[in-house]
Amino acid sequence: MTAAARKDPTTVEVEVREKIHLEILKRTGAYHANDHILLPSGQHTTEYIEKTLVTTEPSFTEGLGAVIAKHFAQWPVDMVLSTGPGALILSHCVARAHPSRPIVIYGAKGLSGGKRRVTLPVEFQRLIRTGSKVLLVEDLVSTGSTLNLLVNLVEQLGGQVIGIGCLWRRTSVEVDGQPVFSLVSRDFPTYDPAECPLCKKGVPLNEEFVRRRHARRPSSVQEPKVP
Ligand SMILES: [Zn+2]
Repeated sequence: MTAAARKDPTTVEVEVREKIHLEILKRTGAYHANDHILLPSGQHTTEYIEKTLVTTEPSFTEGLGAVIAKHFAQWPVDMVLSTGPGALILSHCVARAHPSRPIVIYGAKGLSGGKRRVTLPVEFQRLIRTGSKVLLVEDLVSTGSTLNLLVNLVEQLGGQVIGIGCLWRRTSVEVDGQPVFSLVSRDFPTYDPAECPLCKKGVPLNEEFVRRRHARRPSSVQEPKVP
């Protein structure tokens, strides 16, 4: 009997689903695996995800959003809340596929005195009423700090977070005691260069992602100055 055959069928199903989702992310060009990658921190790793590319393929995003919506289909949802452009695209797809036909609202992330903050436009604040059922959606979750802020925000306005869904969860985070449902749950192993097993094997180091950060700035245009 193989190791896989001895596993609980639910675990196998989760693993299979995760593989499918990883394959989808690979096809968007966002997910890189089986490589030897230099991270901006100087650490080495075998996997990398380019966050901005995750939601570039509408049909993939719709499919992934529908899986999150299905997971939360048994609970009534009044609104889906997210922050950041990638999460907003995904949250639209989740809302579209949820049987409650929730509305979509979004906050903005920022820093204030070196601390993270999330702000919600006044037009959206009015929509969260006492007892409003809110589903939080994120693209990538690493520490859960943004989600914690969103939970506080919803509770301050009298709403109730009924669930949290995301595409990718890096750690086994719980937010405010709530589990986070994710399509992929993976943490990359990162290595100190001195202890990196890939360096030891002599695998060439891919510096592309760090180089790109330094060498290329975002494109921008501006209106000409009026004399
Ligand atoms: Zn290495």
